[in-house]
Amino acid sequence: MSTLRFASLLVAIASLAHRAPPPSPAYEVYAVRFATVDSYPTRFLVAGADSNRRTPLAFTVWLMRGGGRTVLMDAGFYRDKFIQRWKPVGFMKPSDALAPLGVKPSDVTDIVISHVHWDHLDGADLFPRARIWLQRAEYEHYTNDTGAVLDRAIDVDDAKMLAKLKAAGRVQLIPGDSTEIIPGITVFTGGKHTFASEFATVRTALADGRVGTAVLASDNAYLYENLEGHRPITQSLDTLSNLRAQDRMSRLASEPRLIVPGHDVDVFVRFPKPGNGIARIE
Ligand SMILES: [Zn+2]
Repeated sequence: MSTLRFASLLVAIASLAHRAPPPSPAYEVYAVRFATVDSYPTRFLVAGADSNRRTPLAFTVWLMRGGGRTVLMDAGFYRDKFIQRWKPVGFMKPSDALAPLGVKPSDVTDIVISHVHWDHLDGADLFPRARIWLQRAEYEHYTNDTGAVLDRAIDVDDAKMLAKLKAAGRVQLIPGDSTEIIPGITVFTGGKHTFASEFATVRTALADGRVGTAVLASDNAYLYENLEGHRPITQSLDTLSNLRAQDRMSRLASEPRLIVPGHDVDVFVRFPKPGNGIARIE
């Protein structure tokens, strides 16, 4: 090889090495409601709320589509015992609730489980190809590879299901706070709804063509009232840590309106399109 050709080869290699990584995709983000409980005591959601107040409760999964992936935050529930116990109205399997968006259960590539409660974890085995992401600390606190219940926040059947999925190599444990698990999707702990409950930020394609950062709070902020009234969630292992996590959500979101609480029916009013229980967060 001539010196000149060798030099140009070196330049080519150097420019490859310095090439910036491809930008993270901007996701289409949706809240998808699969059940509602009409009337629930607000004081179980917002610390210090008046004991006469009641609120409807939306049960939701969040869909992020982009970069060749179809990612869910949380998997909802479907086992009959939960339906009998909670008697939700308008129930459909979370896997069926995605159909209007053209998403089949086998299309879901990843499910980010925010915490091990039944209404967020139970539906994980409805999606036959998905990789299940869960904080290692959350997993190890509540269960193990035999499917034991080590702390009662996890349902006995959900613990067994998780063990089965893990044995099949489908569970990916997350090492901790502030981890970008998928390009453009980062998870954060500290909300302390459960031992290592997490919320997520996602690079989001907005209606006006810009790209913003949305925060999917899950139960680390149940309602807009938690976020806007600076009120901790009632069910928290550490109230101060919960408030700090909510403050952090405010800093991470590119606009306050892009913080999406976990169970608030108003999400579907504030983001009315496309409608019928599906809200594009834009
Ligand atoms: Zn919960």
